[in-house]
This record gives sequence, structure tokens and C-alpha cells, in this order.
Amino acid sequence: MYTASCLCGAIQLKINTDIPKIFVCHCQQCQKAQGSAFVAIAPIHTQDLEILTGQEQLGEYYATENKKRVFCKICASPLFSARLDLPEIVRLRVGIINEPLNAQIASHAFTNYKAAWFEILDDHAKFPEAVC
Ligand SMILES: [Zn+2]
Ligand SMILES: [Zn+2]
Repeated sequence: MYTASCLCGAIQLKINTDIPKIFVCHCQQCQKAQGSAFVAIAPIHTQDLEILTGQEQLGEYYATENKKRVFCKICASPLFSARLDLPEIVRLRVGIINEPLNAQIASHAFTNYKAAWFEILDDHAKFPEAVC
């Protein structure tokens, strides 16, 4: 079990499940959404994500028709994403988790599009054109 929050703290979340694996996506949408080289996410069941405070501050943005990216309307922290055709899963942005995360990277997606300045130095699975 973990807790998580956005940068300003308006949104407080509780995660009622283990997070054994982190998935890294290097696609350009994720680079822009994070303002960084990649996004690090953990897929969890929607029912395991509890929104303790800040429900009214949740903003949604659709870069692609089928996927909403949810963020804090006050501080703009990316929180999670969810596919409309897969509502039972949310893809948590693991950087918002408060506690040290006992997890390992499972794979890197869209490595063909990775930032030129970023070098992948681990040996985890790489999917050059995989969907994130
Ligand atoms: Zn916030
Ligand atoms: Zn991506």
C-alpha cells in the first residue's frame, strides 16, 4: 500500500495494492506530457486507487481519442492515465508516490523515439515500437 499526491498537495491518493513493476515509455507524447525524457508508470486496478482529497481538481486531457491523461488543475502534476476501452486499469505516474517504491523496471516502450540525450543503461526488455 502506498500514498501519493500531486506537487501542491491538493490531490491525495491512496494505492491499495503492491507495485512490483514499473513500465517506462519513451514516446513523444509521454516526453511532452512529463516535460522529460520518459514517463515511468505502474498499471493498477482502478478499484485500488482511492482519491482521498481533490476530486474536483482532477483535470483530464485527451492527446489521443481513447486515452485520458489526468492531472492536477492547480499544479499540473501528471497523475495517471486511463484508456476509455479499458476503464478497469489506470496507469499511475510513479513519481507521485510518497514512499520509497519497492519495484523494478519491467520494460522500456517506444525506444525508437527516446530522447537523444538519454541513454538506457539497464538490460530490461526494450520495445522499439510498442504501444504504451
Ligand atoms: Zn496539485
Ligand atoms: Zn508513451
